[in-house]
Amino acid sequence: MSLDAQILTLTAGELADAVRAGRIGAVEAARAYLAQIEATAPRLRAYLRVQPERALAEAAAVDAARARGEPLGPLAGVPYGLKDSFVTAGIETTAGSRILAGWVPPYDCAAARRLRAAGAVLLGKLALDEFGMGATGEHSPWPAPMNPWSSGHVPGGSSSGPAAAVAGRAAAFAIGSDTGGSIRVPAARCGLVGVRPTWGRVSRAGLVAFASSLDAVGPLARDVGDAARVLACLAGQDPEDSTSLADPVLDYPAIAADAAARGLAGVTVGVDRAGLDRAGLDPDVAAAFAAALGVLAAAGAAIVEVALPDAAELLAAYAALSSAEAASNLARYDGVRYGLHVPGDSYEASAAATRAAGFGPEVKRRLVLGALIQRDPALQAKARAARVRARTGHAAALARCDVLASPTTVEPGLPVAPGPGDSPEPTRGLGSDRLVVGASLAGLPALSLPAGFSPARDGQPALPIGLHLVGPPLGEARLLAVAAAYDARAPWRGRVAPGVFPGGAT
Ligand code: GLN
Repeated sequence: MSLDAQILTLTAGELADAVRAGRIGAVEAARAYLAQIEATAPRLRAYLRVQPERALAEAAAVDAARARGEPLGPLAGVPYGLKDSFVTAGIETTAGSRILAGWVPPYDCAAARRLRAAGAVLLGKLALDEFGMGATGEHSPWPAPMNPWSSGHVPGGSSSGPAAAVAGRAAAFAIGSDTGGSIRVPAARCGLVGVRPTWGRVSRAGLVAFASSLDAVGPLARDVGDAARVLACLAGQDPEDSTSLADPVLDYPAIAADAAARGLAGVTVGVDRAGLDRAGLDPDVAAAFAAALGVLAAAGAAIVEVALPDAAELLAAYAALSSAEAASNLARYDGVRYGLHVPGDSYEASAAATRAAGFGPEVKRRLVLGALIQRDPALQAKARAARVRARTGHAAALARCDVLASPTTVEPGLPVAPGPGDSPEPTRGLGSDRLVVGASLAGLPALSLPAGFSPARDGQPALPIGLHLVGPPLGEARLLAVAAAYDARAPWRGRVAPGVFPGGAT
């Protein structure tokens, strides 16, 4: 295997340790990833923009710091990608929308600043559903990324580029945002670990807003250890985000490693079996989930029965609340400070022309829905009441167990839309989030991790299936501990999507 291929097989943690020990140079690592991005770009379409010069300069700075004997951070020399809804100084940021095309922000988002301080190297900006609105990656004016496990299936969204890049070994990890599932669903569909932290645990400064009471920032990573390491760098209070929490950040990597070694004796895992029956699991997903519970039980966990609020009701409340918030947040794209400038007779006419030309059909649908909700106090009250039920229902269930478990999605894969003109109907994406919006509405931490594959059959390749875990407020460490104990006992650990290494290395 070439050195480049060897570098790509390392986890982010292994790579950082090798860079710190001087076994691999940060520039060498950046070059290996840049070559992989180029080799896989026609298939993956994960990146909207690659920044080779900037990446090599950041990597050279890490190597120079090491040469001077300076201490290196926990992600020293690790190349990563950012969803394009995060602003980056001097790099065009579009949030997947034509309305922001050409916008070059003057500052870096908190995630980029923190990751640079940890030694990570930014490779480029990753594709997404426009403004994060979607669950497939297909709601975008630019070509949708591919799922590395199957060219016939979507990578999931809206963090479609981050998931495709990490699963395709075109980034060691990536940063996504999750409003109603956008980190966890693509992580599940691409065989990755994706963490949505407690609302407020990670600064959202510099994240292009979709629905502010729901938006959260987190990693998509190759394994639980990497997710823990990246989350530890991201988490913590930030004076630039007044909603960020001051609580101390725990040592997630150490806690996860400890649980992986010790197992889960004394841990209870809650499952809402009646709710899963109502959701209608695909038989392959049901089988993988049953096997996953078996692994958790074998690691020492007790499985208990709980009841959660009705998923269909939560999905409807999510659609109403997120669209109403989006209608306010996206009002700033009027062509004055942000957005294409399309001159008209009046401010109203100019703003309307700007939006007509700049927003895609899914965003327009949500803005119309959001405007209707904003004018309907009775509907707002109904959605808010459902949100309260999400909070109280999850709190009651979590009083009876340490973490909640379910599959991440009801089906093992979603086929790509037949053609550009047939872009997916609005409800298709939302259905993907059926099992995960509850944690979003309740503001709880949640993660998805690989829990096996559907069997290859009828010409369909094997597709990854995700296990979804939800914890109490600020329960990230507990979630990562359970995930690590599971992951350490999972037979598919380290399995790589077919064809990811065009050079033949696997
Ligand atoms: N798929 C959901 C939606 O379309 C969630 C998106 C997200 O989390 N950004 O709104």
